Amino acid sequence: MHEMHFLLSAEARNISLAQVAAWDDDEVFKTFCDLRWSRNNGEPYCTVCGSVTNYFIRTRRQWRCKDCGHTFSVTSGTWLHSTNLPLRTILIAIVIMANEVKGLSASQLMRHLDVQYKTAFTLYHKMRSALLKTRYDKPAMSGRIQVDGAYLSPSVRDANRAKDRPQGNKKSSTPESCILVIRQEGGAGQGGIRTLTYVIDTENAKDIRYHVEDNVRGNSTIVSDEHPAYGDLEISFERVVVNHSICYVGPLGENTNQAESFFARFRRMFHGQIHKASRKYLDLYANEVAYREDTRRWNNRHIAYDMLGRMLTLEAESPFRGYWSRSKRSMGVPPSLASSLAA
Ligand SMILES: [Zn+2]
Repeated sequence: MHEMHFLLSAEARNISLAQVAAWDDDEVFKTFCDLRWSRNNGEPYCTVCGSVTNYFIRTRRQWRCKDCGHTFSVTSGTWLHSTNLPLRTILIAIVIMANEVKGLSASQLMRHLDVQYKTAFTLYHKMRSALLKTRYDKPAMSGRIQVDGAYLSPSVRDANRAKDRPQGNKKSSTPESCILVIRQEGGAGQGGIRTLTYVIDTENAKDIRYHVEDNVRGNSTIVSDEHPAYGDLEISFERVVVNHSICYVGPLGENTNQAESFFARFRRMFHGQIHKASRKYLDLYANEVAYREDTRRWNNRHIAYDMLGRMLTLEAESPFRGYWSRSKRSMGVPPSLASSLAA
């Protein structure tokens, strides 16, 4: 389970690019150590044998394990293992990503950092992949859960509004993808507090039931619109229907506004930054928007350290490691990642 870092338990403060630029190298390095070994108060342990007995090779900023002789760095074995970027550049990139609440494109990041496009692309996708990989690090959802879907092709639009549906049009040449959002409501005034997204081919009962049952406890209440694809959820859950053909808020205040809020942010990000999202990355983009919605009240230091912490505590190999050195292949959610998510 990904744990909130102890650095964040102190008073919430923002972090600025000017601050990070002015830090000395030791401060930057210590921040990485604190996040990497947050469960050990920032103290390093061997990436091979786990021993905490080591000596520090100051000139190389590496440690050698006294028990097994292995040499390791603060990024060894993490998703940032193979990066050639200076730690400060990575930290600056992360602060930029944390600040851009609607996301940004790899080419914008490239200009901010003065690096090659592929470097910016890879770093951003590693961050997105880390968010996707760690989205299950909490227990199943419970309480009131809003579920809704929207199609994306060529632009995001509501799936269920009859007036928006192409009438008798042939299918566009681009296959449509439906983004399913499952969003847990917080208490009064809190809005959505946790959001999971899935990319499915169509807004269909089978996929919807599968994903909702996989993530939501049985004693929960599902709030959805009147689309028949959500009808099967009544088998496992109490269900509240908001009839969107009549109104957007039911007589008891029931609504899917939190799901709508996700789609509104997704549209802003999609049109403003991403422009065209290939299906293979859609899962990453949708999950990034979900993360940004759920962390919308955090200060940017909290978000930046959380993002970096996820990249530094995932000890599996990043799916984007060596991406550009391989022949172009369909990445999407890599099979290794998909199977571990399904597990
Ligand atoms: Zn060791």
